[in-house]
Amino acid sequence: MSDSIFLYLKMKKRNLELYLHIPFCVRKCNYCDFFSASGTEEEQAAYVSALIQEIQSYQELSGEYEVQTIFLGGGTPSLLTPEQIEQIFDAIYHTFSVNENAEITMEMNPGTVDIEKLHAMKAAGVNRLSVGLQSAQNEELKMLGRIHTYEEFLETWKLTEQAGFKNRNIDLMSALPGQTIESYEDTLSKVLALEPEHISAYSLILEEGTVFYDWYEKGKLDRGAWKLPSEEEEYAMGELTIQRLAEAGMHRYEISNYAKPGKECRHNLGYWDRTEYLGIGAGSSSLIKGERFDHIRDRKAYIEKIRNGESILIDREILSVESQMEEFMYLGLRKVEGVSRTDFQNCFGKNVDDVYGKIFDKLEEEQLLEFSGDRIRLTHRGMDVSNCVLAEFLF
Ligand code: SF4
Repeated sequence: MSDSIFLYLKMKKRNLELYLHIPFCVRKCNYCDFFSASGTEEEQAAYVSALIQEIQSYQELSGEYEVQTIFLGGGTPSLLTPEQIEQIFDAIYHTFSVNENAEITMEMNPGTVDIEKLHAMKAAGVNRLSVGLQSAQNEELKMLGRIHTYEEFLETWKLTEQAGFKNRNIDLMSALPGQTIESYEDTLSKVLALEPEHISAYSLILEEGTVFYDWYEKGKLDRGAWKLPSEEEEYAMGELTIQRLAEAGMHRYEISNYAKPGKECRHNLGYWDRTEYLGIGAGSSSLIKGERFDHIRDRKAYIEKIRNGESILIDREILSVESQMEEFMYLGLRKVEGVSRTDFQNCFGKNVDDVYGKIFDKLEEEQLLEFSGDRIRLTHRGMDVSNCVLAEFLF
């Protein structure tokens, strides 16, 4: 090996994704089980100071990596003030080497930004926005416990345009209490008229500990105005999503994600491809060098521990080869293009058929999995029941 190639390999940095968790919301939505809650300005300021201290603590680790994507999620990251946004990104750029073409996303909720804040985001390098809309029907938004109306979302959307953002996602939900196929179709039409570059369209899942779960247990979602759609209606809404979005030139590239060509979310693709990622903030997770870390899910304890120089880890696991194979399959198969046999072989030094042959045969017979050259992927039907299919790959 020549000296220059040796030097290049030595200097070549590994790819890294950064995720920063901002667990503050104006108030809790009725369906949400994410780690987030309302908080005072003082709490938010203390959290941001701790977050910055945590970012700076990665000075040593950062030398080995080049950051390809940054994602500020929550919670509602758009509740950060322009100054806090600037301080957080200053800390990131001083600590990490960030690729000049990095995708930098911030999640935001309608009504939580003005043009000044959007300019601060842009100046900090944010080049992708993910806007939580969920529905274009005001009565549905109210029932979801959202803080905004559809008209307020439109105002925010216009502001993002004025600020020059050209890569924007809209989050939508279907199978909502009281939602009909007609109301969902109207939501899709209104959203598509805005020509977003990306849409994440999820079906409602009733999570324990949420207001919806409580309503469900009390039978409130079985009848009346907030009756849940039937399985057939939920399926029809899913099919409508695929059809209407395809007609608008947005291809489905993951179970719940659709994009115009070239506008797929690189951060999420990296996650499904098991790129190493570093989670920063309370409640975040990381995957670094085959190890998984989880941070404490308590804002106050997180702030105190960071101040006192104590560990914020609550869980640390060195992934076994079997766990890594499981992740390779159940994360990779979420993508419409599926997984590559060659990639599996290169990762684990094993033929994927030797590991999963029997499961492949079963799922192929049930028309849930298909094979094309090097690729293995879910069929359309397999995508519909992906939770059950993906569970088959757990040892
Ligand atoms: S805004 Fe998002 S994170 Fe906050 S409560 Fe609502 S769904 Fe949860």
